[in-house]
Amino acid sequence: MSDEMYREVILDYYQNPRNKGTIGKPEISAMDYNPLCGDKITFQMNLDANGKVAEVKFDGEGCAISQASASMLTEMVMGKDINDLSRISRTEILESLGNPTLGPVRIKCAMLCLKVMKVGVYSHLGGSGDRSEE
Ligand code: ZN
Repeated sequence: MSDEMYREVILDYYQNPRNKGTIGKPEISAMDYNPLCGDKITFQMNLDANGKVAEVKFDGEGCAISQASASMLTEMVMGKDINDLSRISRTEILESLGNPTLGPVRIKCAMLCLKVMKVGVYSHLGGSGDRSEE
């Protein structure tokens, strides 16, 4: 995928974010900042009776990469088992963004959503999750 195309994907999600907003009473909620860029992401989920993600929202502000990756991550986790969420990798996030070439600061922008989502999952699971991707 060319640089031009990945920018289009990122801009599309930034300008038309999927699943942006908040859940009234989320079972899982976490928030964090990326001080290097000023990004802020809140990630919220509700589970169904089988422990699968039935509802997911993100909210936040910041650069296009941070917000687009968070929106993409909501689509990635929807319907998944909570126990599988900790296995979502940095590689999967980068693939969703179109494998852009990102410097160390921009990588933190792209991975903020993943970090926040996993903090929420781990606190919900009581620290028993798989942390191998951190
Ligand atoms: Zn950023």
